[in-house]
Amino acid sequence: MTDKPTLDPSCLRPETDPDTFDEVWVVHGGSTILPQQHNGLRSFRSVSQLTETLAGRLAHEQMGLRLYAAGSEDFIWKTARIAEQAGLSRDEYSLFKLGPLTRTVMCAHCHTLTRNISMTLITCDGCGATLEVRDHFSRLHGAYLGVQADAETPGILPTVEALT
Ligand SMILES: [Zn+2]
Repeated sequence: MTDKPTLDPSCLRPETDPDTFDEVWVVHGGSTILPQQHNGLRSFRSVSQLTETLAGRLAHEQMGLRLYAAGSEDFIWKTARIAEQAGLSRDEYSLFKLGPLTRTVMCAHCHTLTRNISMTLITCDGCGATLEVRDHFSRLHGAYLGVQADAETPGILPTVEALT
């Protein structure tokens, strides 16, 4: 395979050389992709396939493993939960957000997760409420908090802005 993913070295700690990684796992997103390993590169057809395999793998790992996860915010926080459930400490895994600046927002009222949000005001996928996206982040849910946008003054909405 020649499509070994390239990691932007600037997102890694200075002493980290991606060429020294024992393994690189990547999601290719095709239904014909089977879990396979070739020269340390392992391909998966979906994030869920990769994370399920990771959970099984980490359950049998010994101390000393270092895990680097790079991808969407959803992906890196899901990976963080798996790492913590397997007993890795925060020093043993590193997370790097890649791709467009979007957030997953959890509605404070119905707890529905609305994904790929890029603006400060959204409509909840669950209850339809107009939510203002806050900077409060829940690691447990891997999501930012969204609260009723006109809670203080019904009918008066804050200005819509792009998330930064
Ligand atoms: Zn809701």
